[in-house]
Amino acid sequence: MTDPIIECEGLVHIYRTAQLEVVALQGLDLRVEPGEVVAIVGRSGSGKTTLMNVIAAVEEPTAGRALVGGHDLTRMSERERNRFRQQVVGYVVQHSQANLAPDLNALENVLLPMTPRPVAESRERAAFLLETMGIDELAASHPGELSGGEAERLAVAVAMANQPQVLLADEPTAELDRATADHVLRDLRQLLRESGSAAVIVTHDASVERHADRVIQIRDGRTSTETRWLEQAGEVVADELLIMDRAGRIQLPRAYVERLGARGLIWRFLVGSTPNTKARWRFLAAGSTS
Ligand code: ADP
Ligand code: MG
Repeated sequence: MTDPIIECEGLVHIYRTAQLEVVALQGLDLRVEPGEVVAIVGRSGSGKTTLMNVIAAVEEPTAGRALVGGHDLTRMSERERNRFRQQVVGYVVQHSQANLAPDLNALENVLLPMTPRPVAESRERAAFLLETMGIDELAASHPGELSGGEAERLAVAVAMANQPQVLLADEPTAELDRATADHVLRDLRQLLRESGSAAVIVTHDASVERHADRVIQIRDGRTSTETRWLEQAGEVVADELLIMDRAGRIQLPRAYVERLGARGLIWRFLVGSTPNTKARWRFLAAGSTS
């Protein structure tokens, strides 16, 4: 088995201000394999952005274990952090369009974060990124001249400039209509495939599930459920894991109960499980994922 590209265990992040402490992550576990695309869903305030900031080495975790690309995020010097942010992860932050350089054109925006390399190589990489994201004809346009979908495509190209092992994208399609979001995600997936990068994509959009290998739900700063799509005898099956909290409690998302339509069935399955273990069952998905 290969080493995971992201390995978080018991991750805790506390924001401390003069007046109060906010526990944004409380013992979160996450494991992502190289090349895997994982979608993170969860309510506003559940800790999604905090998790991304920790994985991107923007915030240092308060406690727990966090390894990304073999780097221990809990013990990195400022210098290592900078190198990590430039070379190991690419980060499309929430409201990423604000982060594009308005005075540079699209091509220059992609060239800007690139690590030093021969000019011809930089240009070739930038051209590949713009083309895969479907905006090669806009290379000379400035961010202010781009539509929301085009600017999001550019933000992805910029984050992928140095061929990171992991792409992090925080609600990349939040401001796009359904059809545009779907197209952007499809091209993003293609780019990930060609680059061999893993990705963690935070989203409110249920359709993202179709573009991910696995969907993880975060609730109160902890992972609560995981869904993975499996093909079995020609049928698409959802393999689901529920994760218990430390007290051994489990709260079922309402959609689960509705989809399964049988509380008794669920509880029968959980009998005998111990705290901090994962409870597993399978059921037929209502729709196809293709
Ligand atoms: P999400 O991205 O899922 O909406 P966040 O990670 O942004 O959630 O926030 C998780 C919790 O941490 C929220 O209660 C939020 O108010 C709090 N929080 C986020 N950033 C800060 C900060 N810089 N200072 C204090 N509290 C914060
Ligand atoms: Mg957020």
